[in-house]
Amino acid sequence: MTDQELQKLVEEISSRFFGVAFRHQARFNGRLRTTGGRYLLRTHDIEINPRHLQEHGEEELVGIIKHELCHYHLHLAKRGYRHADRDFQLLLQQVGGSRYCQQVGNGRTQLPYRYELLCQSCGMSYKRKRKMNPNRYRCGRCSGKLTLRELQPAKLD
Ligand SMILES: [Zn+2]
Ligand SMILES: [Zn+2]
Repeated sequence: MTDQELQKLVEEISSRFFGVAFRHQARFNGRLRTTGGRYLLRTHDIEINPRHLQEHGEEELVGIIKHELCHYHLHLAKRGYRHADRDFQLLLQQVGGSRYCQQVGNGRTQLPYRYELLCQSCGMSYKRKRKMNPNRYRCGRCSGKLTLRELQPAKLD
């Protein structure tokens, strides 16, 4: 699927399920790691993880697009567009969107990586889902000392 086809698909889903046109950009972004998609508050664009399509197929993709469109339409309408907002939950239910921004990985919904162990010598990075004591481990590549860094809490997905 190309960016252009994705754009068309998002426009179709927007009109059919939300009754409102999607007037911004939809595109694949191969740099997305843990999420299937995200909505960008500043530009109002929607980005989809291309690996998600490969791993979960097109039906799941539609669920992700609906999820992102819930953020999109509610944000533009100045209503509750965050996951915790009632508006968001209701709209998501109505259109049958994915409950979560699907994780990409082994085909299951997973915890996102919240921590990173960084090697002070070679710069190697090890992503971790749980907090770890960096003093108890060494870099697997060069045996250097590690430091723990908390990753930014996920942006609005
Ligand atoms: Zn190292
Ligand atoms: Zn989301």
